[in-house]
Amino acid sequence: MERKYRNPEKMRFAEAIYIVEIVKGICLTAGVFLKNLGRWIIGKRGAVTACYPEEDRPDRSPYIRGKHYLVQNPDGSPRCVACYMCATACPARCIYIDADEISQNPDIQKGPKRFDIDLSLCIMCGYCVEACPVDAIRMSDNIKTVGYTRQELYFDMQHLLTWNPHVEPFFTDKLRRVVQEEPVTNAH
Ligand code: SF4
Ligand code: SF4
Repeated sequence: MERKYRNPEKMRFAEAIYIVEIVKGICLTAGVFLKNLGRWIIGKRGAVTACYPEEDRPDRSPYIRGKHYLVQNPDGSPRCVACYMCATACPARCIYIDADEISQNPDIQKGPKRFDIDLSLCIMCGYCVEACPVDAIRMSDNIKTVGYTRQELYFDMQHLLTWNPHVEPFFTDKLRRVVQEEPVTNAH
């Protein structure tokens, strides 16, 4: 049995010759144009189009996902512990990490010798931020990162640590404080 996947076309004669529909479309577009033009002439903003990048939309969400930055420890080292969870979660495969024993803090086994992000590949999904167990990578509201070449959108660890500096206590200190304030009780 032959299946029909499309609805049969039911055009009236006026629609079938297109002229009427084209004139209706032009009238609609001209109406919107003249309405906006009138608003501009009397000093009110007409269309809601923002003149980006000089202007920002006033209703832009403060939670927008923009360029990444890495959190610093008080000694200036990256808070990142090179666990690779962000790189593993990244669907665009644009985070490149080399782990090493770089930390002077005996509580922290590893850190990144290299931590690069290729923003020309990034799709700004935020999975890396969600995946990080120590809140070491975050996304700013800077969405105006542009470049003429791909190299200009490739950021190394030094840049990610310093372009939007955020220094916070060692996460191990924070954990210790939490455990001291809320001692873990043995259920058995
Ligand atoms: S925002 Fe998404 S695509 Fe970009 S680096 Fe993070 S996980 Fe990868
Ligand atoms: S930024 Fe976070 S998730 Fe990524 S390697 Fe460092 S500690 Fe792990």
